[in-house]
Amino acid sequence: MMFRILIVTILFSTISIIGQNLDKPNILFIMSDDHTSTAIGAYGGRLASLNPTPTIDQIAKEGMLLENTFCNNAICSPSRATILTGQYSIVNGVTSLGGKVPKEQQYLAIEMKKAGYETAVIGKWHLGILPLAFDYYKVLHSQGAYFNPIFTEKGMLVKDFKAGKKTEKGTIQMEGHSSDCIGDSGLNWLKERKSNQPFFLKLHFKAPHGPQDYAPRYENYLADVDIPEPENLRDRKNNGSIATRGYKDELTKYIGSSVSNRNVLRNNISILRGTNISKEEATTSQIYQRFLKKYLRCVKGVDDNIARVIDYLKETGAYDNTIIIYTADQGYYLGEHDFMDKRWAYEEGMRMPFIIRYPKTIKKGSRSKAIVENVDFAPTLLDFAGVATPSQMQGKSFRPILESGETPNDWKTSAYYHYYLHLAHHHNPAHIGIRTDDYKLLLFYGAPEKEGKMPHTPAAWELYDLKKDPTEDNNVYNNPKYKKVVMKLKSELKQLRANYKDNNDALYYNKIIEEYWDYSPEDYQKAIAISAKAVTSLPKALDKKSKKKK
Ligand code: CA
Repeated sequence: MMFRILIVTILFSTISIIGQNLDKPNILFIMSDDHTSTAIGAYGGRLASLNPTPTIDQIAKEGMLLENTFCNNAICSPSRATILTGQYSIVNGVTSLGGKVPKEQQYLAIEMKKAGYETAVIGKWHLGILPLAFDYYKVLHSQGAYFNPIFTEKGMLVKDFKAGKKTEKGTIQMEGHSSDCIGDSGLNWLKERKSNQPFFLKLHFKAPHGPQDYAPRYENYLADVDIPEPENLRDRKNNGSIATRGYKDELTKYIGSSVSNRNVLRNNISILRGTNISKEEATTSQIYQRFLKKYLRCVKGVDDNIARVIDYLKETGAYDNTIIIYTADQGYYLGEHDFMDKRWAYEEGMRMPFIIRYPKTIKKGSRSKAIVENVDFAPTLLDFAGVATPSQMQGKSFRPILESGETPNDWKTSAYYHYYLHLAHHHNPAHIGIRTDDYKLLLFYGAPEKEGKMPHTPAAWELYDLKKDPTEDNNVYNNPKYKKVVMKLKSELKQLRANYKDNNDALYYNKIIEEYWDYSPEDYQKAIAISAKAVTSLPKALDKKSKKKK
């Protein structure tokens, strides 16, 4: 009898609470908000020498780094909805902020649960309906605060979600910096869970999203370092078009929020608040240095918190049986083309970091150049969980790429892009595009989702020859040498729009896209006229918007 009890005890103690002895691997999906690959050491960009992310770099060293992962709509809620549903924005309905994914459409969580996983999401959620399909959730209200953030936890009153007030029922306020609170909450959930099932934990940091308020302990981090500037911060060169700059650059002061004081309505001068530099005297260099230091201090806070979670997995023996993924909901501009924020389909915004570690099947220190989209994440995670891609998902599993390092012959050769939220918040015109290994073709159609919601901006196409011009400093759309390339890419783009159901010709903006598809000389004349009108209509419309937002 004693012997049997002993055996049972041994059995139970080896079936760890974090499930490392079960057949299926745990999945830890870590996603931060607006963390561009430029600010991850392993991506080797201009900030790599500052060693901004030692923990994330170590995951890359022990696993695989994807160089060409892209989002289809570089803004928080749409990217999150795409990851959750495996569907493009137009199909899951979250084309802009404020979109909702009902419980029955939270497919990734539903399928993981069916596959025998205990599911949880902790941190930033930013979708209008709570993550009700998860076994556990503890999520920030909307954007969430950097200090003493308020969460809604599973079991609390759902109706108070989004209330965001300390006094509301159904919320819990934690003390400290958001990244530490989210790290603590993730660790607590892992430590306290009772299930023998493998876990699927989505751990979502709010940082380094604006306004990049870092934990006080990082005040001196990089304080004496001169952060390298991108080469195209002070000179936008031939990036852009009449659509993004206006006729003869007449709209540069209104379109695209800037690091410098270029955009008179939305620039980053306010980042100097609290320093001894006045707005009037601020130089681009002072704004840039302050901006980057705040951003990198937030990044460091995320990296340090990931280290804590990894240490715990190591301590409990679950490290090697846990698929660890690091990504962000999209990229971010750290002064490239004098932009801040995301939204644009240029490389720094459209590219997502994607690093994965799972030593059982993924070779350490490997890299892939395969084009992968965020719509492919859910099918891939489900594939690792032993689940075939559900028919309603539009993405495809890239598990074979991760495990073989090879890109299958029938794998996609392009990424699709559509930013719908015309002119909101950071004053970016709506656009669509296609990104292949060699080129990026964009159409800025410059129209709102619904007629009359916002003024039009001039329409134009842009083409970048990425092999020759990886920083997209030279729009070659009008160069006759690229005529054939343009024709081929336009036909591919049209095909993608049909394949992904983003071409409903009853929709207002799709009519505008159609109108400018061939872009005749008359269309250019129309763009000049719209540009002239926008010089007066934009400041009125945008200033009203930014006032309302505050
Ligand atoms: Ca984001």
